[in-house]
Amino acid sequence: MAERGLDAECLAGLRTTVGAGNVLTDPADRLPYGYDNSRRLALPDAVVFAQAADEVREIVRLCHRYRMPLVARGRGTNTTGASVPVQGGVVLSLERMNRILDIRPGDRLAVVEPGVTNSELQAALAAHGLFWPPDPSSAAYSTVGGNLACNAAGPRAVKYGSPRENTLGLRVVTGTGEDIRTGVFTTKGVVGYDLTRLLIGSEGTLAVITEATLRLTPRPAAKRTLRALYRDVGTAARAVSRIMAQPETPCALEFIDGNAIAMIRHYQPALQAELAAGAGALLMIEVDGSVAAVEAAAAAVSAAAGGEGLLELRTATSATEVAALWDARKALSPALRTLAPKKINEDVVVPVSRLAELIEGLQALSARHGVPIVNFGHAGNGNVHVNLLGDPDDPAQLAAMHACLDAVFDLVLKLDGTLSGEHGVGLEKRAFVGREIGPPALALMRQLKRVFDPHGILNPGKLFPDAAEA
Ligand SMILES: Cc1cc2nc3c(=O)[nH]c(=O)nc-3n(C[C@H](O)[C@H](O)[C@H](O)COP(=O)(O)OP(=O)(O)OC[C@H]3O[C@@H](n4cnc5c(N)ncnc54)[C@H](O)[C@@H]3O)c2cc1C
Repeated sequence: MAERGLDAECLAGLRTTVGAGNVLTDPADRLPYGYDNSRRLALPDAVVFAQAADEVREIVRLCHRYRMPLVARGRGTNTTGASVPVQGGVVLSLERMNRILDIRPGDRLAVVEPGVTNSELQAALAAHGLFWPPDPSSAAYSTVGGNLACNAAGPRAVKYGSPRENTLGLRVVTGTGEDIRTGVFTTKGVVGYDLTRLLIGSEGTLAVITEATLRLTPRPAAKRTLRALYRDVGTAARAVSRIMAQPETPCALEFIDGNAIAMIRHYQPALQAELAAGAGALLMIEVDGSVAAVEAAAAAVSAAAGGEGLLELRTATSATEVAALWDARKALSPALRTLAPKKINEDVVVPVSRLAELIEGLQALSARHGVPIVNFGHAGNGNVHVNLLGDPDDPAQLAAMHACLDAVFDLVLKLDGTLSGEHGVGLEKRAFVGREIGPPALALMRQLKRVFDPHGILNPGKLFPDAAEA
């Protein structure tokens, strides 16, 4: 049973490479590595733990030789099924390659292995007065390798960008087992094609990341957090556009709709009395900078936030108040699971100037399909987490949810948007990719995949629509 589907010679080679104790074949041991946060499951034939880049290279070479599917895995927190081994084979866990190899404050860079978690890295950087901007809410668990493979970001991306803007170079192993370096150790560089940017966000389908050189930013000395309540989602969305049109870029600009406010009232008693009843939307606005500059920045965003539909604008006065606001924002996604047995969680993006049309369009689709929708997200990037709620055991509700989702994607593309801002494609959105990317560009991407991974062993069945659907 343990060796089902796995060539015995390949298994022996894996054991020789990493030691027998680092290869799991018992079904009970493999089970946790078949899941991710999408809640899908497919059992791998083996789980292999690598502890060094050379081991990764040998593992990939073995899988290449034996045509064995190989799925790189950080901590399985992605929401799209991207790390579920749908074709079996090997799950290569990078969680034990978790060393911070170098921090060079003068060069504003850090060199890390892929398995270090985002928050472990941030803690180490804080001692140098630096940070790495990507900040997914999963930072305490998700790995830098997973963050890079998904181009995962978070609230700070509005000012500081995503991993693509904050990575100088990578060391990776391609699908043929070639160990290559991409990028530079400098803040400028234009020699050759930008493979670093190509590999970031490729969801482990082109190469396995074994090392990353990350671009760091000095921690700002001061921060101000503001909370703005609006009459309805439309007026809040138009305020986002005004805030982004003025020169002081907020370091976070989060949107929460009326349904999500109701959830916060329910789950965060400390904030219940504070959130004015009747508010249809809330913006969390944060500015940072030097002590001297931050007050002026707060005044500028406050002025832009004012106007039509504003019910209340308040600056958080204590660290506790700031923490309560962020806790409430970060608890929204997990709390949704308690509202309905199923949520379809999308993270669509539109140009900020089209945000009001998106939000109002989503409300219309919710009413038309009879599907409750809760929206919140990184409004400064036009990135909205759209949550469609329902009961999967009720066939009519499930059908309505899928019809509604279809219409949501059409709406997003009509508004010049994109289907995913940070969660990626994985399994969940493969069928829709062909709506956003035209056939010639998709064909080029398939060719690139074959160049990096001619036998198609790396994370097969992900990212691309089936050829027939394309
Ligand atoms: C509570 C919660 C909050 C979240 N909040 C956010 C958020 O705010 N923003 C956001 O963007 N995402 C968020 N996510 C999603 C998720 O945390 C991110 O996608 C994260 O980057 C995944 O990291 P991971 O280590 O868990 O990777 P995994 O889930 O293990 O893997 C994700 C993908 O990366 C590939 N991969 C992993 N490591 C490597 C490697 N070394 N080389 C090549 N490919 C690799 C895998 O094959 C897979 O395709 C959240 C998830 C949860 C559960």
